[in-house]
Amino acid sequence: MFKLGCHVSIAGKIYYSLDRAERIGCNTMQIFARNPRQIRKIQLSDEDISIFKEKAEKTGISPIVVHIPYTLNLATSRERFYDISVREFILDLIEADKLGVDYLVTHLGSYKGSTESVGLLQFSKALKMILSETKELGVKILLENSAGSGQWLGSKFYQLASVINSLPDPQQVGVCLDTAHLWAAGYDISTKEGIDQMMSEVETGLGLKRIAVVHFNDTQEDLGSRRDCHCDIGKGKIGVTGLSYILNHQSLRHAAFILETPKKSQDDDDRNLKTVKKMYTSYNV
Ligand SMILES: [Zn+2]
Repeated sequence: MFKLGCHVSIAGKIYYSLDRAERIGCNTMQIFARNPRQIRKIQLSDEDISIFKEKAEKTGISPIVVHIPYTLNLATSRERFYDISVREFILDLIEADKLGVDYLVTHLGSYKGSTESVGLLQFSKALKMILSETKELGVKILLENSAGSGQWLGSKFYQLASVINSLPDPQQVGVCLDTAHLWAAGYDISTKEGIDQMMSEVETGLGLKRIAVVHFNDTQEDLGSRRDCHCDIGKGKIGVTGLSYILNHQSLRHAAFILETPKKSQDDDDRNLKTVKKMYTSYNV
């Protein structure tokens, strides 16, 4: 079944997110499980967790994706910040497991004050620690490609591959592909030729099956601008041709497509979801 959803708010109660997703007709969704711009302050109550799980089952919304907060940086060389980031990541993973969600999406972090290779090593080391301490959990970590602004890692597939291949079991982690970030990082996905080339790079470096989630966004920034800004589907520089080709790509049929398009009200999600459904050639849900 075609999986299409949005990033939805948890405002009020975490389980309201499922109501919001259901209201706009999503069969998959992404959330921040806590304030994404703060360090961890509180834990979810057992009651909230059990209501969330009940609603998830009732609505059938699956997969459910949690996005890691922006405050963590697993690539930093600042020792104290690094330790806090690893600890918080583990707590977030444990909480995601309690919620019964499927995936935890993370960026690779920033190597600010250091070098790309040191940043990648720091990230790999952190990921190994996290995976070895959370073996029994049922949540899969997905590495998201970045726009490559500043010293952010993960804008090129070789960086993702170097992390994945350093793991004792590379099958433990998957990938989340963000279309707006691909564009910002210089992958021309506005044409079929550009997408075929990008997909063959993914196939060689990472394997197409590894892509569990696609963050499906358009952008008005220039190709290779390294600027991370999302806009309505089909209204940006990637455009309808490129986005339709990705959406209908046979090698991505297994992936969940999640919109992170700007929104002021529910109308914005409704409009973008409608556009995507029109683009999906055999849409029949
Ligand atoms: Zn994204």
